[in-house]
Amino acid sequence: MTTFEFATANRILFGAGTVKEVGKRVAALINTPEKRALVVTGGKADRARPLLDILEAAGIDAHTFAIHTEPKVETALEGALRAKETGCTLVIGFGGGSAIDAAKAIAAFATNEGDPLDYLEVIGKGQPLKNAPLPVIAIPTTAGTGSEVTANAVLASLEHRVKVSLRSPLMIPALAVVDPELTYQLPPDITASTGMDALTQVIEPWVSNKANPITDALCMEGIMRAGRAVRWAYQKGAEDINARTDMALASLLGGIALANAKLGAVHGFAGPIGGMFDAPHGAVCAVLLPIVTEVNIRALRERAPGSETLHRYDTMGWLLIGREDPDAMIAWLHDLIAFLNIPPLRTYGLTPADIPPIVEKAAVASSMKGNPIELTHDELTEILERAI
Ligand code: NAD
Repeated sequence: MTTFEFATANRILFGAGTVKEVGKRVAALINTPEKRALVVTGGKADRARPLLDILEAAGIDAHTFAIHTEPKVETALEGALRAKETGCTLVIGFGGGSAIDAAKAIAAFATNEGDPLDYLEVIGKGQPLKNAPLPVIAIPTTAGTGSEVTANAVLASLEHRVKVSLRSPLMIPALAVVDPELTYQLPPDITASTGMDALTQVIEPWVSNKANPITDALCMEGIMRAGRAVRWAYQKGAEDINARTDMALASLLGGIALANAKLGAVHGFAGPIGGMFDAPHGAVCAVLLPIVTEVNIRALRERAPGSETLHRYDTMGWLLIGREDPDAMIAWLHDLIAFLNIPPLRTYGLTPADIPPIVEKAAVASSMKGNPIELTHDELTEILERAI
C-alpha cells in the first residue's frame, strides 16, 4: 500500500436543523471583542435571511456579499476588499458551491495581497499562500459540490476562458455545517445537476489513481447513497427527506474524498467548459459521467487489462445496480441522465469547432491527473463529440 496523507475540515456538523448552531460557533471562532463576519450568498440573498437572524441573535455584526454567477477571480478580489473594508475577521459561505468557493477565495485573498495569478493553478504560478486565510464556515444549500470540506475554490478567469483552482490546505473551512433541510426546496433541475456532481465526486476519487483506504471507504458509502437517492430527490423533492439527507451526505463524502484523492476526466473537462460557456457545473459533469465511465473502462480493458481499477468498476456496479456488471452499469448511468432530463452540451452553445481547444485545456487540467488511465487525444475528442 502506498503512503498517504488525509485532511478535512476541523469540524463537521451534519443533520437537519444544525444551521441553528452557527451563531454560537461563529462567536467561538472570532477572538476579537467586536464580532464581524462577512456572509457570502448566492444571487438570491433572501435565502440567507434565517441565517442572518441567527447571527444577529448571537451578537454577530454580519455584512453580506452576494454573487450572481459561478465565481470569477474578480468577484473574489471584490469580496476580499469588502471583508477588509468592513473589518470582518471571519467569512461564512452560505449557498451552493459558487457561494462557498467565493467565500473561501475571499478569505484567502483578504490576507494574501498581490497578483492573484501568483497563487492560481494552471494559468498562474500556483505558489503556496503566504498567510493563513480568514477562518471560513461553509454552509451548503445544494448537494452538491462538497466544497464545504475541500481545500480549493474554483474561479473563472475571463481572460483565460477557463476555470481553475486556488488551492491550499489552509483553505479547508474551519467548520462545515451540512444541514439537509437547506436543500429541501431545491428545484428539480438544480437537484438533478448538483446531484450528479455529487455522484461524480464519489465515483471519480473511487477510481482515481490517488485513491487511499480512507477515501475508498467514504466513496463506497457515497456511491451507494447517491446512486439510490438521486432519482428520488429529483422526483419527490421535499417529500423525500431521506433522499435529501442521502444526497447531502454523499456530497459531503465526495468533498472529503476528492480533497484527498483527486478527481478524473469528467472534472478535467468541466473546468475548461465552465470557463468558456455559461453552463452549470453539475449539468456538465452529469452529461459527461456515463461517457467518461464507458471510455475509461474500454481504455483499461484495451491497454491495462490487469488493472485493479477494472475490479473497482465491478464493485461500483454492485454498489449502483446490485451486480458486478460494468456494461449494465454504464447503461444504467445513461438511463439515469435521460431520466433526470440532463441536456446535451450543445444547449450551452458548444459546437464541434470548440472541441479541439477544450481537449487541449482538459489534457492539462489538474483533475485529469487523477483519471485511472491516461486518455488519448482521440478518446478525449470522442467523449466531447458524444456529449455535445
Ligand atoms: P451554484 O452554487 O452555482 O448554484 C446553482 C443554482 O442553485 C444557483 O442559481 C443558486 O442560486 C441556486 N441555489 C442554491 N441553493 C439553492 C436552494 N437551496 N434553493 C434554490 N436554489 C438554490 O451550484 P453548485 O453546483 O452548488 O456549485 C457550482 C460551483 O462549485 C462551480 O463553480 C464549480 O466549479 C464549483 N465546485 C467546487 C468544488 C470545490 O471543491 N471547491 C467542487 C465541485 C464544484
